[in-house]
Amino acid sequence: MGKTRRDVNADVCIVGAGPHGLAASLLFERIDPSIRVVVLDQSNEWLKSWKDQFKRLEIPTLRSPIVHHPSPDSFALDDFVKREDFSLSGLPYNPPTTEAFEAFCSEVINASPIDDPVVAIPRSIRCEDDCVIIDSHEKTIYARYLIIASNPQQTIIPRWAKRTYHQNSLIQHSREIDLANTNDMADQRIAVIGGGLTAAHLTRSALDKGALVDLILRRPLQIRNFDTDPGWLGPKYLTNYYAESDAHKRIKLAREARNGGSIPPWMRDYLVDYESNGNLRIRESKEVASAKLTSCARYELTLSNEKQVNVDQVWLATGTQSDLYAMECLRPFLHGVTFVDGFPVTSNSLRLGQNPIYVMGRSATFALGPSAGNLWGATRAAKRIAADITGVELIANGS
Ligand SMILES: Cc1cc2nc3c(=O)[nH]c(=O)nc-3n(C[C@H](O)[C@H](O)[C@H](O)COP(=O)(O)OP(=O)(O)OC[C@H]3O[C@@H](n4cnc5c(N)ncnc54)[C@H](O)[C@@H]3O)c2cc1C
Repeated sequence: MGKTRRDVNADVCIVGAGPHGLAASLLFERIDPSIRVVVLDQSNEWLKSWKDQFKRLEIPTLRSPIVHHPSPDSFALDDFVKREDFSLSGLPYNPPTTEAFEAFCSEVINASPIDDPVVAIPRSIRCEDDCVIIDSHEKTIYARYLIIASNPQQTIIPRWAKRTYHQNSLIQHSREIDLANTNDMADQRIAVIGGGLTAAHLTRSALDKGALVDLILRRPLQIRNFDTDPGWLGPKYLTNYYAESDAHKRIKLAREARNGGSIPPWMRDYLVDYESNGNLRIRESKEVASAKLTSCARYELTLSNEKQVNVDQVWLATGTQSDLYAMECLRPFLHGVTFVDGFPVTSNSLRLGQNPIYVMGRSATFALGPSAGNLWGATRAAKRIAADITGVELIANGS
């Protein structure tokens, strides 16, 4: 097929304009501005889905420290916050506010000659000679390398919720809940399912809007400052992790390090305060066994201890599972790839098999460790991929 005027030629095509795709774009630009990078996304705006998610869930601060962000300069966000006089979160370890993080990313994007994302969703991918050909309805991209930074994932819906989940809006997953457009919730009773920070944010917002909340979680609340112990961001744990050649053992270590959802101590303190005023009931070590939609459009949840909880809405903060197969057009390239517990076994350079296709985000867990999907992982993945493609390894400060 001959090329048309809508075709795009690039050295590197990145799918996904989230923090990970941005980190890779900024790094290529830093290494060699002549490298032609094209970024595809559902939106032509950088970080659109990140911003939407923080807005919908009304999350005022990040969980990660201020040195984690998409820029190759570790201290750039800290400098920006001081220079622009942004207010601090005031929380332990001083994570940046959502507002400061987003303003910083905008400044970095505006100051850099990187192009805006191109609106295109890949429908098919094929490799011919030295070229990866990415077809979307909108255009065809011919690139030498393809980077998947689109965070392909499956929403986790508990078995008891599956039957009614799609039938009505009284049961929603955190990926759909829009608190920013939900005002008065007085007299509403909400069950929030999950023990991570998203569950806690949902709980807090619902309470602030006047609702009564049952927070139901399978385990006791896990209290940790960060998603994973900071030892996983440096040699303390990563030296042994990288030395482990058995893929199953590595992924087991990564899973154990994340150990499900957790909340920082400051959030636990908030929840305990809310609980003492009677509007919140934290039901630890309880599972929902079944859910029934009653004739008056309420949910009757039966817990593992056979107690019943009647609520107006159920909010699932049950997370998502990273899943490269969720990106259908990538499937032909996954046959030869070993998967362990859903994670692809990539090369150290995050390459998927023999083709010039790389992954970022949680899909890079085997090579990078349990924090691959976090902001920390964005700059680390970008470095490894860019070093493989360009042969240049940038030594950024603070990393
Ligand atoms: C509520 C929440 C809060 C978090 N807070 C933090 C935090 O404070 N610190 C931290 O380190 N981590 C945090 N994380 C974890 C992680 O950093 C985020 O999930 C982050 O968004 C991951 O970045 P990403 O670029 O991999 O994916 P995303 O931000 O999801 O970006 C992927 C992009 O790909 C696009 N896309 C998807 N599919 C396609 C397709 N088929 N074609 C084209 N484009 C596509 C999407 O539109 C999106 O723009 C948080 C996660 C959640 C859910």
